[in-house]
Amino acid sequence: MGQRMTRRQVEEGLNLYEEKNYDAAIKKWTISLQKMKSNRLRFSTLGHLAAASRDRGRNKDYLVYAVQQIDIAHELDDNNLRAQAYLTLARANEMLADYFKAVSYARSTLQYSPPGGSIQGYAVLTMADSYIGLCNFSKVVECLDKALIISHENVDHLMEVQVLSTMGKVYLALKDFSKAHAYQRRALEMALSNAAFNDGQNVNVTSKFVRLTKLKLATPLRLMGDFENANKYVEEAMGAASSLGDRPVQAKCLVCIGDIQRSQNNNEVACKKYEAAIQMLQDMNDRYSYTLAMIGLVKAFLALNTQKQTANEILATALSTSTSMGNKLLQARCHLLNERMLKLDHQLEEARRVLDTAQRLYQEADLLCSVCKTSMGMQPDRIQILPCTHMFHERCIMDLLQKWTHQAQPCPKCNQNVLFSRSYIALLCS
Ligand SMILES: [Zn+2]
Ligand SMILES: [Zn+2]
Repeated sequence: MGQRMTRRQVEEGLNLYEEKNYDAAIKKWTISLQKMKSNRLRFSTLGHLAAASRDRGRNKDYLVYAVQQIDIAHELDDNNLRAQAYLTLARANEMLADYFKAVSYARSTLQYSPPGGSIQGYAVLTMADSYIGLCNFSKVVECLDKALIISHENVDHLMEVQVLSTMGKVYLALKDFSKAHAYQRRALEMALSNAAFNDGQNVNVTSKFVRLTKLKLATPLRLMGDFENANKYVEEAMGAASSLGDRPVQAKCLVCIGDIQRSQNNNEVACKKYEAAIQMLQDMNDRYSYTLAMIGLVKAFLALNTQKQTANEILATALSTSTSMGNKLLQARCHLLNERMLKLDHQLEEARRVLDTAQRLYQEADLLCSVCKTSMGMQPDRIQILPCTHMFHERCIMDLLQKWTHQAQPCPKCNQNVLFSRSYIALLCS
C-alpha cells in the first residue's frame, strides 16, 4: 500500500469519527497502521486510536496505544512527542485507577514539556485526579492551584472547567456538599458559556464537558435534597451521552440515577440501575465508579431488607477493589456499611471492631481535624481549606480566623504563616 493511500485512510477514519461512525473509524486506523512507514504519522494515528478508545470506555486499549506511542517518541528522540505520550499514559493509568503509575507518568510529562504550557496544565490535572483516588487532598489542592494558574495564562477555559470540577470532587469526598455544589455549578456555567462561544471546530470536546459537568452537579444536588434538579441534570447528561454513544458517561449517569432513586426510597428501581452500571463499568475496567455502584447496590439491598448473602459478597468485592486502588475513603465507607449490617444482625462486638478500622483509615488519610481531633468526611459538615492546603472543620477554624492579624496568621497544623502561601482554588468559591 502506498504512503499516500495510508494517509488517505487516516483522513477517512477522521471523517467517519466525525460522523459518529466510531467502530468503522477505529477499523480504518487499525488497518492503515499495518502498512504505515512514517513514524510521525504512526504516532498521530495511535493518538486518534487512543482518544477513540477512551471515548468508548475501552480503557485497556487506551493504555496499549499510549505504550506504543512512547516507543515511537523514544525512537525519534522527540521530547514533544514524549510529553504527549506520557500524558496519554498518565491519563490511561488514572482511568484504570493505577494512581501511583499515573502520578509518575504525569511527572515525566512535566519533565519533557515546556514550562507553563497547556500540556503541563493537563499533566498536573491528571496528578490531581490521581491524588483524589489516593485521598491525598493537600496534594490535590497543590496541583489544582498550579493548573488554575496555567489555565489562566493560556486562556484555556476547558482546563479551568476541569480544575473547578475536580475541586468540587474534593469537597464531595469531604462531605461538604454546599461547597461541592458551588464548584460544580461554576464549572457547569463555564462549560456552557464555553460551548456557546466556541468557533464550531471543537464542538465535540466542548459538548463533552457540558454533559460531564451536568452529571457532576447532580450528586451534590442529590445530597442536599434537591432531587428534582439532580434528576433534571443527570437525565440531560444521560440523553446527550446515549445519543453519542458515550459509554463512560452513560455508566456513571446510571450510578447517579440509582443514587437519586435510592435517596427517594425507590430501591427496586435503584437496584436495576446499579446492576446495569456495574456490568458496563466492569467491562470498562473503571474500578473507581464500579466500587461506587457496588456500594450503592448494597445500600439498596439493605433498605429492601433482601439478598443478605449477595449484599455481603458485593461489599467484600467493593472492599477488596478499593483496597487494591489504595483508596482509604472508599475502604472506610465499605467498613461503615459493614458496621451497619453487623448491627442489624446484632453482632455488636464485631461492629465495634469494624468501626475502629474505619476510623483508623480516616486518620491514615490525614483527615483528622487537628483542632477538635475528630475525623473530617465521616459526617456532612462544612470544611475550610487554608491557603497552606491544610483542612479543618469550618466551625473549628472560625475563632482562629477572627483572631488573625495582618502579621500573624499561623495555621494550627503547620504553623506556617498563611499570608506567605495562597491557594486560590481553595478560596475561589468559599
Ligand atoms: Zn474540627
Ligand atoms: Zn497548614
